[in-house]
Amino acid sequence: MLKLNNLTRSYQTDEVETLALNGVNIQIDKGEFVAIMGPSGCGKSTLLNIIGMLDNPTSGEYWFNEQNIANYKEHQLADIRKRNIGFIFQNFNLIDELTVQENIELALLYHDVSSSERKHRVEQVMDKVGIAHRAKHMPGQLSGGQQQRVAVARAVVGGQSMILADEPTGNLDSAHGQEVMEMLQGLNQEGTTIVMVTHSPSHADYARRTINLFDGHVVTENVKAA
Ligand code: ADP
Ligand code: ADP
Repeated sequence: MLKLNNLTRSYQTDEVETLALNGVNIQIDKGEFVAIMGPSGCGKSTLLNIIGMLDNPTSGEYWFNEQNIANYKEHQLADIRKRNIGFIFQNFNLIDELTVQENIELALLYHDVSSSERKHRVEQVMDKVGIAHRAKHMPGQLSGGQQQRVAVARAVVGGQSMILADEPTGNLDSAHGQEVMEMLQGLNQEGTTIVMVTHSPSHADYARRTINLFDGHVVTENVKAA
């Protein structure tokens, strides 16, 4: 599905250059569930942003479905991104002024589907994540666990084949965190590729492979026995 070859990302601020990613080589196959771990500042978010095509590498190659997109322009990346990638964040990132249903539907606006087809798909996905009874509620009226379910629905409603999750359970208590992990596990079992940054070893345990970053490079990879 994707392959990073000798990838670097540096940030230049004033006189100081920070090498956030330093020669990263990672391959992720379709249908994998991968956890990314490592101490604060090791480059996890930078890596996820590049995989998610929200940022370009400074050097190196990023192969996504057989194309090297490392130097693609923003509009080209946006086009690939919306068709293939859904995002889940620690803070849910829902739009406070829109209902649950509208938040999910927004993800389909730039897809070429009719308004009735949009409504139908949104209803289906709301049922799937168990939030249909809250369709007309605003995010502020929901618990964190419910908000994250809406975010999961938004991430998959366009038929995305990959979910990138940046500490998806970071703001949830253990029961709701586990609920979100089980939802991600279910999506993975249906074929969705999942790449998740987490600080929680028990949540990383849902992944078949854990990549450990340190100082901008991969230090170890653990693969669980099948
Ligand atoms: P993590 O997600 O593992 O905490 P980050 O990817 O956020 O790590 O950061 C990696 C390194 O890059 C850190 O040293 C951080 O300070 C630096 N960094 C991240 N974003 C920026 C930025 N926009 N400008 C300058 N330095 C940055
Ligand atoms: P569920 O069992 O459907 O996951 P929760 O246990 O997450 O629901 O929440 C129970 C109820 O409490 C919800 O219906 C929700 O509206 C309300 N609730 C919980 N936390 C919050 C919060 N932070 N803000 C507003 N409402 C909340």
